[in-house]
Parts: sequence; structure tokens; C-alpha cells
Amino acid sequence: MSNVPVAVVTGSNKGIGFAIVRALCKQFPGDVYVTARDPGRGQEAVAKLQEEGLHALFHQLDIDDLQSIRALRDFLKEKYGGLNVLVNNAGIAFKVRDTTPFAIQAEVTLKTNFFGTRNVCTELLPLVKPYGRVVNVSSMSGSSALRGCSQELQRKFRSDTITEDELVALMTKFVEDTKKSVHEKEGWPNTAYGVSKIGVTVLSRIQARMLNEQRKGDHILLNACCPGWVRTDMAGPQATKSPDEGAETPVYLALLPSDAVGPHGQFVSDKTVQTW
Ligand code: NAP
Repeated sequence: MSNVPVAVVTGSNKGIGFAIVRALCKQFPGDVYVTARDPGRGQEAVAKLQEEGLHALFHQLDIDDLQSIRALRDFLKEKYGGLNVLVNNAGIAFKVRDTTPFAIQAEVTLKTNFFGTRNVCTELLPLVKPYGRVVNVSSMSGSSALRGCSQELQRKFRSDTITEDELVALMTKFVEDTKKSVHEKEGWPNTAYGVSKIGVTVLSRIQARMLNEQRKGDHILLNACCPGWVRTDMAGPQATKSPDEGAETPVYLALLPSDAVGPHGQFVSDKTVQTW
């Protein structure tokens, strides 16, 4: 088993994830893994980094596929005895002009952005070593979606005692409510992506609390963040930040020094803790 520190970035064959790997290759003292659902796209990304003189490794990971997540978990356990940095970056968003029915958009978006990310956390968080860093890439869209929720939902999502099961039930209810076309009546905003990112941010708050309760002595720091508005296939060419600039806050959180006591359980944008 290798004692080399290891960092894993989900959805890192392109966009912000790729830029996060590029920065980690330069700054993280250990092995850095590109992961992608498509091995061809993943290997291409590794080759592109190689051309830049950077050495990344590759492992397949489709966050929608529990078997794929578990294969990565077993690989990390066997080769490294765990992991040191996990960046949950993989995500999807329907384009504004997409005519797919809203209920389908809700189901598909939540499946990857919330349930997929949660499944990765369920399988990989127990492997995170002491002084490990976990970054869940969320979005300011989650914060605006929160403000668009009913007072009752806002109270639940801001609660310091909400459990993971309660959050899962709420995310499931959103998808069900869209199918019955009652989501607005039930207090939800009209954005599947925004609600999925509420889920990612609240999940991060819960996970940080659990780490405090169960693994306080391990000094693991876990946060959600927004990369900003970044020129990628998701956000398009008009966005204000380059992928490398979008990677700055996630990388800052992934590389918090071992004597840092925070941020932890926060939503961070431009390296600054935001009010939730
Ligand atoms: P992107 O260019 O579309 O890249 C998304 C990445 O996620 C791709 O590598 C994609 O792989 C991967 N992915 C999607 N579904 C996956 C799955 N089931 N399993 C594994 N990987 C999967 O988007 P981006 O702009 O870089 O976004 C990265 C993250 O930042 C997302 O979580 C996004 O919500 C968040 N974000 C972006 C912005 C922005 O302005 N761009 C703003 C706020 C937050 P494929 O190539 O196989 O599709």
C-alpha cells in the first residue's frame, strides 16, 4: 500500500474540474486523479496535462453509478488506504432554452447533482484520512434558489439540526412535486439546478456537523463552494471567469493547511465565507 497522499476530483475531464486537477498537479504533494465517466475523455485529459508537463492519473467514475463509485472506493482503499483530498465537482445543468419537460429536468438534475454527489460522499467520506479536505462544488444559484423557497422550506434548509435523511426526503419531494406540477404551490422555486445546489450546500453543512460529532480529532475540513461564473460548456463563453480562475476557490479549500481550523461546514465564494 502506498503512503503517497492522494487527491480525487470528480468530473474532471473538462471545465472547472480539469482546471482543479491542473492546479492540484502543481500544488498538491501527491498523486492527483482525473476521474471521468467516459474513460476516453478522461485519458485525453491526462494526455493534455502531460503536454503541459503535468502528471495526473486516471480512474473511471460515473457518479450516477453506484458500482462505479464503489470500484473507485475499493481501488483507493487498496492502493492508498484511503484518500486525502476529495473534490466533488461533477455536475450537470440543462440549458435555459432546453424544452425537456420540467419534471424530467428536475429528476435528471437532482439525480446527478444531489443524489450522485451524496452517493460519492457516502462511499468515500469514511476513507478520508486525518487532516483530509473535502470540497463540494455547489453554486450561488443554490443561494438564490433558497431565497425563492417558502419561509418554511428556508427554515428547514437553514436549520442546524436537519438530518441527511430529512434532506433526502425534501429533495425527493421536490422531484415528486414537479411530476404533479404542484412544486410552486408547495413552496419550491422554479429551478431544478438551483434546488439541486441547495441540496449540495445543505448536505455539506450536515456532513461537516457529522464530522464534528464523530471524527473531531481527525481535523478534516469539509466545505461547499461556488466557483463563480466560469467559461465552460455548462455556462458558455459569456461567463466572466476562466476555468483556472474558477478553480481558485475549490483549490484553496482543497489545500487548506494542516493547522487551519476553518472554514468548515461553510459555503465559500471568492475564498470568502458566505451567509447561508
Ligand atoms: P462542465 O464543463 O459541463 O463539466 C462538468 C463535468 O462533470 C464534466 O467533466 C462532466 O463529464 C462531468 N459529469 C457530469 N455528469 C457526471 C457523472 N454522472 N459522473 C461523472 N462526471 C459527470 O461544467 P463546469 O462548468 O466545469 O461545472 C463544474 C461544476 O461547477 C458543476 O458542479 C457545476 O454545477 C459547478 N458550477 C459551475 C459554474 C459555471 O459558471 N460554470 C457556476 C457555479 C457552479 P462529461 O464530459 O462526461 O459530460
